[in-house]
Formats: sequence, structure tokens, C-alpha cells
Amino acid sequence: MKTIGLIGGMSWESTVSYYQLINETIKEELGGLHSAKILLYSVDFAEIEHYQASGNWDKSAQVLSEIAQKLEQAGADFIVICTNTMHKVVPQIEEKISIPILHIAQATAETLLEKGIQKVGLLGTKYTMTQDFYKEKLLEAGLKVVIPDQSGVEEVNRIIYNELCLGNILEGSKQIYLAVIDDLKNAGAEAVILGCTEIGLLVKQEDTNMPLFDTTAIHAQKSAELAFDDV
Ligand code: GLU
Repeated sequence: MKTIGLIGGMSWESTVSYYQLINETIKEELGGLHSAKILLYSVDFAEIEHYQASGNWDKSAQVLSEIAQKLEQAGADFIVICTNTMHKVVPQIEEKISIPILHIAQATAETLLEKGIQKVGLLGTKYTMTQDFYKEKLLEAGLKVVIPDQSGVEEVNRIIYNELCLGNILEGSKQIYLAVIDDLKNAGAEAVILGCTEIGLLVKQEDTNMPLFDTTAIHAQKSAELAFDDV
């Protein structure tokens, strides 16, 4: 089995889900006492969020690249970055390592296409929803992407950083998300990407008729599959 190098802590609330989901997939596939070989480097998210908010993406790229190098040196066979937003700096990280990065947006696009989805709504941080680095991966795969209107973007983003990343799961915020999901449906989306690794802690498939694609679950499952694909 390959060793997975996880870069986590962004936030740690969702890294817990990754650890659990990867191990559950390995157990399902291999049975018995099998569990995943994982190296986890968990960051101080306050530091990373500070670089995001001040637009210092180069500094965050440097920090995450150094971590990826450490994981490679420690024996990781591939890297999994446990956040959608920080995939913005994947090109810089890739320059510094010789092992692959399993890209969360590419993994999600593959899953959507397998399900026959053509037009999809995207929820995530304001960076993920409004900048190109993430949507371009979906567009390259042939998907059409819709995002919430400006007030929707602000609300979805606020709830991520002020509540979900702090472990606060509030019913009122779930209702806000469900209303935004309805708006995306009215804009023609056939499904919605939960494109932030904490959203699945708030909104579950049973809360809505709209098909939801949780990037944490998809990314964790594909990581496990990549780890055991030649076992
Ligand atoms: N975990 C979130 C994501 O998937 C947001 C935290 C971050 O900014 O990395 O984008």
C-alpha cells in the first residue's frame, strides 16, 4: 500500500473527516485489520488564514511547499491537500516536489462526469467561488459552473471562516446554505459541489433533493483508492 502525505489543519475540523473517511475506505476495500498508511502534517490555520486574507499567496505557497517536501522526504508516495482553497498554490508546490498531488477539483470533476452532470453549482470560500484557479479545472473537464450571487458568496464565505472552521454547526446557517442551493438550482445547476471541506459538516444529502458532491468525501475516497490500487 502507498503512503498518503496529508497536508491538513485547514481547518482541523475537516482533517478529522479525511482521516476517518480514508481509513473507512481502506477497511471496506481490504477488510480485516487493514488501515491507511498516512503521514499527516497539520498546520496552524491562523497563520495560513492570515496569508490568505492579506493576499500573500506566495508566502502560503512557500509554507505548504516546505511541508510537502518534508512529507516526500518522510516517505509519502503522493500528496493530498485537505482544503479546496489552498489548491490555488498547487502549481508552486508541484515545482518543489517530485511526487504527485491528488487534485481535489480534478477528482471532483471526474466524479461529476461519471454521474452525467453537465452544469454544477459551486459553494466554497470566496476565493474558490470567485477566482479562476478552481473553476478552470471544472471547465477544462467540460463542466459548466454557476456560483451564488454576491450576497450568497459573502454569506457562504462568512459561515465557513466564522463558524465551520471553528466547529460551530448552526441550524440557521444550514438554512442559509439550503436557500443558496435553491438559488443555484433555479440558475440551472443540476447538482452542487460542496467545494469547501467543512461544508459537509453543516449540510447533508438528506437536507435537500439537490444532488450534493462533497469534496471531502470524494477526495478522501480517491486518496484511499490511489493508495491501494496496486495492492
Ligand atoms: N477548508 C476550506 C476549503 O476547503 C477552507 C479553509 C481554507 O481556507 O483552506 O477551502
